[in-house]
Amino acid sequence: MNETAMDILNAREERVCFQEEVMDRYKNNTLISVRVNYPGLKKNTALSRNIYFAIEKIILDIFKYYIRLTFFRITAEGPVGIFIVNRNSKVIKQLCMKVEDSHPIGRFVDIDVYDGFTRKSLSRTGFGASPRKCYLCDNIAQECVRNRTHDIEKIIKYMEEVNEKFVKNRR
Ligand SMILES: [Zn+2]
Repeated sequence: MNETAMDILNAREERVCFQEEVMDRYKNNTLISVRVNYPGLKKNTALSRNIYFAIEKIILDIFKYYIRLTFFRITAEGPVGIFIVNRNSKVIKQLCMKVEDSHPIGRFVDIDVYDGFTRKSLSRTGFGASPRKCYLCDNIAQECVRNRTHDIEKIIKYMEEVNEKFVKNRR
């Protein structure tokens, strides 16, 4: 079933609320939220789930000694993971940015990191990183999304190709 843009907005709002609740319960811990950067309204697909679980595996691996809670759900936003990690948020942000920037399919996910004291998400630019680039061209990703520069089918096809290559090489 296809979701509407409203469903996606509502799911996002609900997630932000849930994150606040979790941060209330696990004070002074860092919260990580992982989502797939997937175009269009239908965000729960075999491809988005494959991408999500590959990245989740890495997050669980990197932080295994520090994780206090893991939470997974599929909403109109697609697959979403929330992790509470008992480690300094700046350290976590830097590791997560490394996953986003260096892992073969890391560019297909958004890994948000929230500091347990300020309750705010840490920004990439705060660590001297540039804004994230579009999958298909060299522009800033948000601009291409806003301007609808690329065909959704084309973006998904590209993601499929990259993911296939990644899965093949992993075997
Ligand atoms: Zn582009």
